[in-house]
Amino acid sequence: TWQVTARALPPGAGFAGLVISLHDISHREAAEAQRRDFVANVSHELRSPLTVLTGFIETLQGAAARDEHARQEFLDIMAREAARMTGLVQDLLSLSRVEASERIRPRDPVAMDDVLRATIAALRPQIDGAGLALDLTLPDDLPSIPGDHDQLVQVFHNLLENAVKYGGAGGRIDISGRVLRACPGLEGPVLRVSVTDHGDGVDPIHIPRLTERFYRVDRARSRDQGGTGLGLAIVKHIINRHRGRLVIRSNPETGSTFEVLLPCTAPAPPHDPGSATPP
Ligand code: ADP
Repeated sequence: TWQVTARALPPGAGFAGLVISLHDISHREAAEAQRRDFVANVSHELRSPLTVLTGFIETLQGAAARDEHARQEFLDIMAREAARMTGLVQDLLSLSRVEASERIRPRDPVAMDDVLRATIAALRPQIDGAGLALDLTLPDDLPSIPGDHDQLVQVFHNLLENAVKYGGAGGRIDISGRVLRACPGLEGPVLRVSVTDHGDGVDPIHIPRLTERFYRVDRARSRDQGGTGLGLAIVKHIINRHRGRLVIRSNPETGSTFEVLLPCTAPAPPHDPGSATPP
């Protein structure tokens, strides 16, 4: 899409004429459409639990309030819907925080084995509750990488939680880490951490869209599991912020692998010509 603007030359220019400028605004329009979609999605996601809550409040204000069994059942549903809204608002806040910090360069050395062990400990109740075995394979000399500890915990929390939610049928989750000396498109040595489940996977046609906000292969299943559709969007943003890459492999026969690739070295400081010493 082109935007055309015409401006008359100022009177002092010496001769009469028009300046015509052409601007390609397709990019701006696409960003605006994306923003509208996002607002529409958020509104829809918040409206569904609110509709349920309003319905049950009205029911409880009526005759159902006298039936203790029904009352308890309705309150349980209301608590679940309220928790869903809390989860969505939390994920929205995480996403906006990560997006806001997109250009800040991560610097602190982060020990990845600490990140992974903290993540596993936090999700231990869900892992055990689903009867899953978890296999963690890390080399002894795993290097620290420059990054943001809490954001990296969030990456692996979201991936491991998904492996429990959608890969539970496979009985086992494998997490492994290793350093690759080089990786196409990324700077220097790269730390690769894979989270693999052996569950139902997804049809590969969905893979390119999984990291879009609110994209879910099976909406009902995600909702039943308390999903918001934002988990992988958050993961992708955090990995981008660390100059890394997320590789997804999945199919219904073998399950899914989410591979996180993160550069092990901090980026070279930007060249400052002012500080260069003359030869
Ligand atoms: P959600 O809150 O729905 O889990 P995510 O952004 O984390 O949102 O994931 C998006 C979708 O990707 C999920 O709804 C699910 O369809 C699919 N997905 C994510 N992880 C897995 C996995 N390990 N196995 C199969 N499908 C997955």
